[in-house]
Amino acid sequence: MLDQLNPKEGTELRELVRKLALLNAIKHDGEAQTAPVIGKLLGEKPELRAKAKEVTSLVGEVVQEVNSVPLKEQKRIVEEKWPEALVKEKVEEEKRLPPLPNADEYARVVTRFSPNPDCVLHLGSARAIVLCYDYERMYKGNFILRFEDTDPKLKRPVLEFYDRIREDLAWLGCKPDEEYIQSDRMSIYYEYAERLLKDGNAYVCTCQPERFREKVSENKPCECRNLSPEEHLARWQRMLSGGYKEGEAVVRVKTDLNHPNPAVRDWPALRVIDPGKYPHPRVGSKYHVWPLYNFACGVDDHLMGVTHIIRGKEHLTNRVRQEYMYKYLGWEYPEAIHYGRLKITGASLSKSKIIQGIREGVYKDWDDPRLATFTALRRRGITPEAIKKLMIDVGPKTSDVVLSWENLYAYNRKILDPKADRYFFVHNPIQLTVNSIPKVFTAKLRLHPDNPERGFREYTIKPKGEDNSVALWFSRSDIEALKVGKMLRLMGLFNIKIERADAYSAEASFISEPYEEARKAGAPLIHWIPIGADLPCQVVMPDATVAEGIAESACKGLKPNDIIQFERFGFVRIDEVNTKLTAYYAHR
Ligand SMILES: [Zn+2]
Repeated sequence: MLDQLNPKEGTELRELVRKLALLNAIKHDGEAQTAPVIGKLLGEKPELRAKAKEVTSLVGEVVQEVNSVPLKEQKRIVEEKWPEALVKEKVEEEKRLPPLPNADEYARVVTRFSPNPDCVLHLGSARAIVLCYDYERMYKGNFILRFEDTDPKLKRPVLEFYDRIREDLAWLGCKPDEEYIQSDRMSIYYEYAERLLKDGNAYVCTCQPERFREKVSENKPCECRNLSPEEHLARWQRMLSGGYKEGEAVVRVKTDLNHPNPAVRDWPALRVIDPGKYPHPRVGSKYHVWPLYNFACGVDDHLMGVTHIIRGKEHLTNRVRQEYMYKYLGWEYPEAIHYGRLKITGASLSKSKIIQGIREGVYKDWDDPRLATFTALRRRGITPEAIKKLMIDVGPKTSDVVLSWENLYAYNRKILDPKADRYFFVHNPIQLTVNSIPKVFTAKLRLHPDNPERGFREYTIKPKGEDNSVALWFSRSDIEALKVGKMLRLMGLFNIKIERADAYSAEASFISEPYEEARKAGAPLIHWIPIGADLPCQVVMPDATVAEGIAESACKGLKPNDIIQFERFGFVRIDEVNTKLTAYYAHR
């Protein structure tokens, strides 16, 4: 059809492709990518869909042209010819989070992320972190990291995780402006507990837990509730000095005993934990009394000036609880945004399951590829930018969201594709002998298909012996998919015909050199590695299995943390380069 266009139409189409390619290039540091340009073009001209091949070749050509122009010049052309397109692109780019409620009522927006350092961070925390951080940036506010480490018994903090969480945040690009550790703030919690007790807004309950529950479920006060504040302050002193054993005394904040939700009624604020049995990793056995979540968090949010609490809707009841305390202390409750649940199919986002799996040895370490921890994702080559984009995309909506790994991979692929160099990896290698090669060939393979300036890998193929043959590594799955007599093209080299193939080896003969012939015949493009120009390689897959194979020798120059694409296999992050290459698989 492209051929059928009259010259004027042809020029117009080319100009449109040029515009789209330039806009794409400006978005990607001067390097347009073919696929998104094709996507945009077909979006605007769906009638071209039937001519995918021609479109691809036209776009490929134009993209190459555009990429040979420096970024500055690309921008100048667009500004001159299509200034309106640039404005539109900008609006699209800046489409971000919806505004925060009542942000202008505060001198400064303050958000906080408050993990318990009993585990590394995982994808389940990403939404809270990214939203808190991005909102803070949006309003030029303050982002607080607060370690909530006041449960040395059931959610025991571990020293190494304080640092690992800091590292995870830095990796995500969400560094906090301020940091607090709750176990440093015990005297503050004691002070406010005392104030509530003194004012008769809290009491020390020494009832058996069952007894208390029984009473409260009947909307009745327990025996302690109506005792005098003096009696409660005396009990409080006894709590602090270790006069009560674990489970014998709890400070409760008074609420409406008729509150429809029994879990809200006279909620527990501080309790006794045996310091001998459960020493705290930071402060040791110094304290008998530890604040519970709602109390410590409620006090801190106010004292730290948090203006917007952004958290999951499972915290809705906590707000109801904390509001009683805020009223007693004469405080204003911050704006609270409760987003819906986020599920990622196939990813275990349960911290307790991760911790249990590590303890039982199911997972080797926190970066086991089966885990959705940041450290595992990092090792696989999932970029923080992809995580951020995905989370901003999901935003703070209150409805539940189900995502798949593929959603994250799609973002990651977009980021990696223009950057990652290409190499060959032959999985399950078997030997392919190609006969009748008429001359010496040198394969010049681009490190990146769209950017020749990135350089090449070069392999010389020298035919040997009577048969003028050469031996190559070939993937078993490729051999199995091929039929004898079929033509295929060795990527960047020449076209061959399969003569014989079994489970252990295969033989083929040279047909011709031009790529055009392979394209016309619809021959598959297969990657290969010369025997002798190879490096043993293992790729750790997301299910923790290992794909064994051979990488091309150019991979010897790679370094740990490089992210590359093994062509026809997937994106991988280089983990170790030695006599053997170890990589972790990201995705296709
Ligand atoms: Zn009681």
